[in-house]
Amino acid sequence: MTEQLFAQAVAGAVPSSELGRVLCHEHVVLRTPGFAESYPWTYPRREVIDRCVDALTELLDNGISTIVDNTTIDLGRDVDLLAEVSQRSGIAIIAATGCHLVAPRFVFNRDPDAYAELLVRDLTEGVAATGIRAGVIKCATGDDGVTSVNETILRACARAHLATGAPISTHSHAADRNGLEQLRIFVEEGVDPSRVLIGHSGDTEDFDYLHTLADFGAYLGADRFGGNVWCSEDTRVKIVAELCRAGRADRVMLAHDTNVWSEKEPPGWREVHRPQWHYRHILSDVVPELRSLGVVQADIDQMLIANPAGFFPFLRQQTGHN
Ligand SMILES: [Zn+2]
Repeated sequence: MTEQLFAQAVAGAVPSSELGRVLCHEHVVLRTPGFAESYPWTYPRREVIDRCVDALTELLDNGISTIVDNTTIDLGRDVDLLAEVSQRSGIAIIAATGCHLVAPRFVFNRDPDAYAELLVRDLTEGVAATGIRAGVIKCATGDDGVTSVNETILRACARAHLATGAPISTHSHAADRNGLEQLRIFVEEGVDPSRVLIGHSGDTEDFDYLHTLADFGAYLGADRFGGNVWCSEDTRVKIVAELCRAGRADRVMLAHDTNVWSEKEPPGWREVHRPQWHYRHILSDVVPELRSLGVVQADIDQMLIANPAGFFPFLRQQTGHN
């Protein structure tokens, strides 16, 4: 018998060897929960789903096989939509449990275990009655740092990880080096840092900070390509090239943190303000730029294929015979 590791995608478990190229932090649809319930004409869901299918079919043709959708409840998570889009496009989508910057009121006066229990349910039984399981645990620490409520959430995520093995993917504020604070709490709870992806690390040129995170064994998310926030696109590419030059390609994963549809954007806004902020930007533009800066193809494959294959799978299944 051999043991194989599988990632949990919305359409079912995917063996680590079949994840292919992975974008480690994206979104499909971003919404304010409750908004469309009051103003339904602002969210043409069926039309949006068709657009998502088109975008992800095109991405699969482009060479990406898996995306991780870090859309949590406070960002309007819709696992039925993800399952339909995955099934129709053929791309694997890993859905998230947890929360982004808006802490659920549920956690305010409760112990971390109460929230951890809900996260575990999403990961093991599925979201509500859908049977669709999350495959990554998301949490976020903003520029207000680790508040007491945020600490409860981080500890709950650590405990849900320990109960399930599912990886933890964070939103951090790199300018404040708060990925280290997140990691400190996870480690206190007994989490192995190599099961943690510190998101938005690629927003800073503070290499002392980045190397410290990598020395602990955590993964660094260079995950806002095309997004044009916190640093320029040129700087963003140079940060990854420098990490590769320093022998850290084994700790870096790539993404755009983009989406197909967001309530934030009036029609035509993106074309004017963020023309490169789409799923194909990394393969089409960023990889050639990294290559021109001397990054070898093996390092590109490490960041897009090998690192995600080592990080996202957590389900153990026995296959074959003795
Ligand atoms: Zn995100």
